[in-house]
Amino acid sequence: MKYYSLNRQSPMVDFREATIKGQAPDKGLYFPERIPRIDPAFFKAIETIPDDEIGVRVMIPYTGTVIPENELHRIVSEAMNFPIPLVKVTKDIYSLELFHGPTLAFKDVGARFMSRCLGYFSKGKSEKITVLVATSGDTGGAVANGFYGVDGVDVVILYPFGKVSSVQEKQLTTLGKNIRALAIEGTFDDCQKMVKQAFADTELNKKLFLTSANSINVARWLPQQLYYFLAYKQWKQINDEAPIISVPSGNFGNVCAGLLAHISGLPVKHFIAACNANKVVPEFLATQEYKPQKAIATISNAMDVGDPSNFVRILELFNKDFLKIKNVLSSYSLSDEETKAIIADLYSSEKYLPDPHGAVGYLGLKKYLKESMNKAGLFLETAHPVKFYDIVELLINSKIPFPQQLNDISGKHNFSFKMKDDFSELKEFLLEMGNK
Ligand SMILES: *Cc1c(COP(=O)(O)O)cnc(C)c1O
Repeated sequence: MKYYSLNRQSPMVDFREATIKGQAPDKGLYFPERIPRIDPAFFKAIETIPDDEIGVRVMIPYTGTVIPENELHRIVSEAMNFPIPLVKVTKDIYSLELFHGPTLAFKDVGARFMSRCLGYFSKGKSEKITVLVATSGDTGGAVANGFYGVDGVDVVILYPFGKVSSVQEKQLTTLGKNIRALAIEGTFDDCQKMVKQAFADTELNKKLFLTSANSINVARWLPQQLYYFLAYKQWKQINDEAPIISVPSGNFGNVCAGLLAHISGLPVKHFIAACNANKVVPEFLATQEYKPQKAIATISNAMDVGDPSNFVRILELFNKDFLKIKNVLSSYSLSDEETKAIIADLYSSEKYLPDPHGAVGYLGLKKYLKESMNKAGLFLETAHPVKFYDIVELLINSKIPFPQQLNDISGKHNFSFKMKDDFSELKEFLLEMGNK
């Protein structure tokens, strides 16, 4: 499998190069040259296939000959070595819980998959790789955890100062070693812009081998497809119809991976991209106009994105055919007030406690079900509610017990550099790192 740049000004590359580069030299996102078709027999028998084998089967067309099958099997198994259960919330609505990994958010699978690929690719090489990543909250922790202690890889994380939860901040600032966190005085979009500038900077790229670990990186984006296969595997055992799936969305990597899986053959009746007040895509689907906005801060902060990177991949998946997109994808914008109310409501009426992102997913699903006169569906629960305990505990009037993953970091000291929303400061910091 080869990957081309969506800006079409760079040569095609294989999976290894696409992973190491992160972004094409023309600043485009990499995209697979063709979308694999999965044999329908695979879906017929999916409930009998172990999760790690599903993972290998889905990923092998993308990694091709670049990673031998036994290595790919190891990488996939390590990337998803925790449960991903489909849990009943109401009579017809289920939650696919993606938060049982080490940093309690769905980004663990993608970040662990990518870090292990890079580890494999850098074996026996002397050159250090610097992973540069912007985070709206959860990517940073997942990437920090996935890469912690990986030889030959340094990680620099940019996060918007004061706009991530205290648990998220702990997860990205307490590790140390090869992980550095920069607290940027700005929004997530500012962080993302600085990262993009760094990739485009000739001097920096001469000095350092830079790569990204955002969902623009194919090694993070593509394995997210696995969630949808695992959702289907479990859904199939409770409902004969293909599922309707609601995805809390910010940078649109996750829902885009779901759409990719669907085009490969995965039965899904409809997708919903559930957004908070950041509503460029809901507006695009309503007006056919894409107007990037400044990110607005909300309680589902990992979705505070005003110009989602993966939107261009969605356009590409459907050959920019607006009606085709509308046929499979709906999108809604939900307010913080609605989100808070539903958290309290689900907790008291169903004894289910969603996090603010999952709550947005649930609300998006309910809206679509009502409009389309459907009854059943599932939403992705992308984070553990304890990551947002300061918001959630107030709503339910009780304490959320700390899972083991948090006990490990709760007493540790935060360590980050504060930085202005200014590329020249970042550049200086990186050049200094490169000199060591
Ligand atoms: C990152 C994140 C999202 C948004 O995922 P995208 O792929 O950026 O759309 C949703 N929920 C949580 C908890 C996240 O960390």
